[in-house]
Amino acid sequence: MSIEVKNITKLYKDQKALNNVSFKVKDAEIVGFLGPNGAGKSTMMKILTTYIKADEGSASVNNFDVDTEKKEVQTSVGYLPEHNPLYTDLYVKEYLNFNANVYGTPKSRIEEVIELTGLKPEAHKKISQLSKGYRQRVGLANALLHNPDVLILDEPTTGLDPNQLIDIRNLIKSIGKEKTVFLSTHIMQEVEAMCDRVIIINKGEVVADKYLKDLRDGQEQIVIVEFDYRVEDAFILKLPKVKSVKNTYGFVYEITFSTKEDMRSHVFDFAHDNDLKILQLNQKNASLESLFQELTK
Ligand code: ADP
Repeated sequence: MSIEVKNITKLYKDQKALNNVSFKVKDAEIVGFLGPNGAGKSTMMKILTTYIKADEGSASVNNFDVDTEKKEVQTSVGYLPEHNPLYTDLYVKEYLNFNANVYGTPKSRIEEVIELTGLKPEAHKKISQLSKGYRQRVGLANALLHNPDVLILDEPTTGLDPNQLIDIRNLIKSIGKEKTVFLSTHIMQEVEAMCDRVIIINKGEVVADKYLKDLRDGQEQIVIVEFDYRVEDAFILKLPKVKSVKNTYGFVYEITFSTKEDMRSHVFDFAHDNDLKILQLNQKNASLESLFQELTK
C-alpha cells in the first residue's frame, strides 16, 4: 500500500484541522485530495511527509510509519509544497545539483529528471527568469530527484495560466503511470483532468472517496458550449436528451443532458445545421460537480 492513514486527528491549539481521517492509496494510482480552502489538505500532506506530527492515529507511506520510520518515509516520498520554495538566484542545474548532493543522488539523475519534466529548453536559465509553469517543473524535478515511489503534490496547478495548466497536468499524468501520485486541489476540474480517484475532505473530515470512473458512469453530463451568436434556450432544448440549459455569460451555454453517452458531437451537428460557429466545447462531470457542491457547502 502506498499510503495508509488510520484515524488521524490533528489539532492546532484547540482547533481541529483533521478529525479522525482514514483512507488508503494503492500503488500507481493518481488520487485527488479535493476540498475547499482550510479543509485540512496541507495539514494531511505535512503529516505524510513527516514535517509535522499528528495528535492521534497513525499513517504510513510505502509501508513505513511516519512517526517511527521517518528516514524511510522521506526516501520513499517526493514532496512539492504549496508555495514551492525555490532559490531564485540559482540556475536550474545548480539548484538540482545542490539538492542531489543533499540526498546523495548520483549526478546522472539530474539529466534524467530534466528530461522527464521537460525542463531541457530552460535548464540553462536562472530560476528567477522562469515562468510559473517552468518553476513548477523545477519543483517536480526536485521532488523526483531521489526517484521516490510516491509523490505528494500540494496544489500543484494553482496560479498557472491555461497553457501551463495543460502542460503540468499532462506531466503529472505521465509521472502517474509509474508512481503513486497524491495531489491536493480545491478545484474540481483538476481532479477530473488528472485523477483516477477522488477523496473529498471538508472541515477536517473525509466526506467522500470515489473512483472517477464510477462517477462518470452516472446518468448525467454537462456540456459547456460557446457559440459566436445568441441562441434561444428553447432552441437548444430541442437537442436530444437535454435536461436543462443555462446561459452562463455572453454566448456561453451550460447544457445538462440526462445520458452518459458523449453528447458533444450532437452539439457540434446542432451548430453546423444552424450556421453557428463553436468557439469552445467542453464536457463536465455532472456527478462530481454536484457531489462536491453538496458535500462542501
Ligand atoms: P487546506 O490545505 O485544505 O487549505 P490547511 O491544512 O492549510 O487547509 O488548514 C486547515 C485548518 O488548520 C485551517 O483552518 C487553517 O487555518 C488551520 N491551520 C493550518 N496550519 C496552521 C498552523 N500552523 N497554526 C494554526 N492553524 C493552522
